[in-house]
Amino acid sequence: MEHIDHAVVRRFDTRSSRPCEFCRELDPHFGQRRPLDQMVASNRRAAASSHLTEDGYVRHRMLELRRIAARAPLTAA
Ligand SMILES: [Zn+2]
Repeated sequence: MEHIDHAVVRRFDTRSSRPCEFCRELDPHFGQRRPLDQMVASNRRAAASSHLTEDGYVRHRMLELRRIAARAPLTAA
């Protein structure tokens, strides 16, 4: 029985982290993420690099890129 995940959760306790506002607003699957993948460091802004986990970072970047793509003017190829 491994206890690694539990140790990670204890290290990033909720007092030093908060859910990412950006992801919470834009990701329809936000609630299905692992709790740690939702969190950013509480003293950082809601940016991809503030995420505590690699998966959270990647998902945040994907949301940013999708938003940029949606905003870009459509050009007929
Ligand atoms: Zn985020």
